[in-house]
Amino acid sequence: MKKLVWAVIALFMVTGCTQAAPPAAVPIETATAQPTETPADAYRNVYEIYVGSFYDSNGDGMGDLRGVTEKLDYIAGADGLGADAIWMMPVMPSPTYHKYDVTDYYAIDPAYGTMEDFDELLAESEKRGVRIILDLVLNHTSSKHPWFTEAVAEIREGREHKYFNYYNFAEEKVNSTYYATAGGYYYEGDFWDQMPDLNMDDAELRAEIVNIAEFWLDKGVGGFRLDAAMHVYDYEADNLEFWTWFADECKKINPDVYLVAEVWDTDGAIMPYYGTGLTSMFNFGFSGPAGSVAGAIRRKNGQTLAAQIENYAKLIAGRDPSAINALFLSNHDNDRSAGYFANDEAKMKLAAALYLLIPGNSYIYYGEEIGLTGRGIDENKRAPLIWSVTDTAGQTNGPTAMTERPQMGEGVLEQLAREDSLLNYYRELIAVKNAHPAIARGVPVAIDTGEKALCCYKVTHGDETVLVAHNLSEEPATVTLPADAFAGEIAASLCALDAAADAFTWDGANLSVPAYGTVILTGR
Ligand code: CA
Repeated sequence: MKKLVWAVIALFMVTGCTQAAPPAAVPIETATAQPTETPADAYRNVYEIYVGSFYDSNGDGMGDLRGVTEKLDYIAGADGLGADAIWMMPVMPSPTYHKYDVTDYYAIDPAYGTMEDFDELLAESEKRGVRIILDLVLNHTSSKHPWFTEAVAEIREGREHKYFNYYNFAEEKVNSTYYATAGGYYYEGDFWDQMPDLNMDDAELRAEIVNIAEFWLDKGVGGFRLDAAMHVYDYEADNLEFWTWFADECKKINPDVYLVAEVWDTDGAIMPYYGTGLTSMFNFGFSGPAGSVAGAIRRKNGQTLAAQIENYAKLIAGRDPSAINALFLSNHDNDRSAGYFANDEAKMKLAAALYLLIPGNSYIYYGEEIGLTGRGIDENKRAPLIWSVTDTAGQTNGPTAMTERPQMGEGVLEQLAREDSLLNYYRELIAVKNAHPAIARGVPVAIDTGEKALCCYKVTHGDETVLVAHNLSEEPATVTLPADAFAGEIAASLCALDAAADAFTWDGANLSVPAYGTVILTGR
């Protein structure tokens, strides 16, 4: 059954992935649909945390929830990064270090602390206006989850089936992702034999899923990051139905819920999920060493990137005008960007300027802001954040299977103290973005300046229009903007390389941007 899915994916890849025809399940009318309600502003700069490697509050070497609470001012404060949401990788009990295989959806893994610790984190986050986004893994459970062990017991003891129906059991080995169990049965484990896939056709399980969402939303969680969203069913139409249902159920509980899904695939495969009611899908095409952002830097081509930014926003808006793009450079599954930028701080700064200022929500993977390294096996990508190279307070040990430990000349404290550090560049960029709400919220319109190196677009929100221009070349660029392209003045400028204070100029028609510079103009 999976074969068809892969064939469809292959087709998207062949066709260039940008303009896939909408599937039958999503009516084309969504192109002009208006949002039926206006939820609270969901635009955020989100900090992704692997809790185990973040901050250790009690000296056992394991990062924990109290550690996150202790470091909220670093994540969200004016003297810190200035983010306003946190995506926490799974915190529910699990036999693995990464916890993407849950054994209890209503509890906190003891390695990370207690439910009281979690409630305290929520309360402290709320005080600071920080939204907590919980990783929710619904495609599968742990094979040690009582639902699964009960399901196997039902088979073994010839009992009436209840939990049996929560999973995909078959009397034959349907394909290579099916594993033998009791009574001659096989069960589906798409990712691993210790991760049995859930059967979302079961009404009792769906009711349980609603309970789980309600449990966390009632506590004050602001939303969910939805793992493996395209794997819940074998067919796209079934997945779209499931997530439409899930989004509806969450909105009944909290109309302001924010939902971001991992559809780790091409643009063509991602787009249909816009229109299900999920707020965001991660923009994989812009991320990673082969993605649009790193590719634009490598090719010194900002012009194409600006067109891609406009086009991607149009594709999203065509499906759901209230949806929000979700940008990132790297995440817990990918090599960190410090590696593919060869630890070149100027390139990392330029990349930060590019992805943080693309309209939508930015996801900053913990450590990205200091250029933390990590590549190869997953454990290496989830290595400890380095707080200081001299002060060991809060320092975690990281996953035991790590084969490479980040070697850094500076940690967070040292970079906070160095004025021109990558961390301070992140802080400045986020401050600029927050000072001009149009940057996150506007619909980007590319401006073709005729200069290949320049990534230039404008966005309007409310009564503010902002022009963003980045120079991706190592040479200064001076361009004449098309007549009537923009009226306004320079509001902020940053440069990833040394540049004279007056290197940015704008006279209403001619714009100069130094090498690796970023300029924000604001007007009406
Ligand atoms: Ca600890």
